[in-house]
Amino acid sequence: MSGQPASACPACGAPLAPWRTVPGSDPALLGDYELARCESCGTAVTLAPVPVQAHEAGAYGGGVPRGAGIAAPVLRAFDRRRLRQLARAGAIPPGRLLDVGAGRGRFVAQARAAGWYAHGIEPSRRGVEGARALGIELVSAGIDDAEVPAASLDAASLWHVLEHVEDPGAALDRIAGWLRPGGMLVVGVPNLASVQARLGGGRWYHLDVPRHRTHFTTAGLQTLLQSHGLQPVSTCHLLAEHNPFGLWVSLVSRATRVPSWLYHALKRNAPLRSRDALITVLALPLAPLAVLAEAVFGLAGRGGTVSVVARRV
Ligand SMILES: [Zn+2]
Repeated sequence: MSGQPASACPACGAPLAPWRTVPGSDPALLGDYELARCESCGTAVTLAPVPVQAHEAGAYGGGVPRGAGIAAPVLRAFDRRRLRQLARAGAIPPGRLLDVGAGRGRFVAQARAAGWYAHGIEPSRRGVEGARALGIELVSAGIDDAEVPAASLDAASLWHVLEHVEDPGAALDRIAGWLRPGGMLVVGVPNLASVQARLGGGRWYHLDVPRHRTHFTTAGLQTLLQSHGLQPVSTCHLLAEHNPFGLWVSLVSRATRVPSWLYHALKRNAPLRSRDALITVLALPLAPLAVLAEAVFGLAGRGGTVSVVARRV
């Protein structure tokens, strides 16, 4: 797999300039990674190629996360929130919905429960097998090789996927071609223009270098969608799914040895008994403040992640 072209912004096409060097975000992917940033829209790219198997190692190594049973109802509520954003933009069931990069099929299940004729594609074997164990059959394919009939979808979801692909413009071209004219795409990505990105610096939770190839700003994402036949109709920064946790972990991560220790501990990718555990426990009382702060940042359009619904023109 090749790295991003180092010369042009993948979001808006303006020139890139060297920006900063950041540590790998996963104990399994140690090292320093150079980022370049767009002089126009502020989007950044990870310059080094993504290591082979990066999406099967470390926090992405598989297995059921710690606390998955407790988290399940909360995660279902987040999925319903994503469906509501689609509905508010006019994408309501029944209809054909595809979750692109469907993980373990959680959103597909929720969309079906809401009345969608929903399916998912997922490139990782771990995801497809995890979904099967939950009774959801995903198609084992990535955006490049999925066989989806042209103009066959009423809605699509691309949730924390676009930042992982090598060529986000080409990915959007493919997905736009699968949507019927007027069909809706909901896209969620981390927001490099967020307050938490600034506070977290090289240890921002949602940086996830080197797996994240493009670090979008809201402006960059909107420009990219528009230039690939997808007209943004709604943008949301108030996302309980990722934003308060991202802010809190990013701040705690500045003091822990393992970046984002709690996340990696839940993913069975960091030792439970450690100094980092103590630091994390001591920081727990700050969590409600992170919820409040992200609400304020979100209302100001500076939330840690952003979701945009765009209409296929
Ligand atoms: Zn740009």
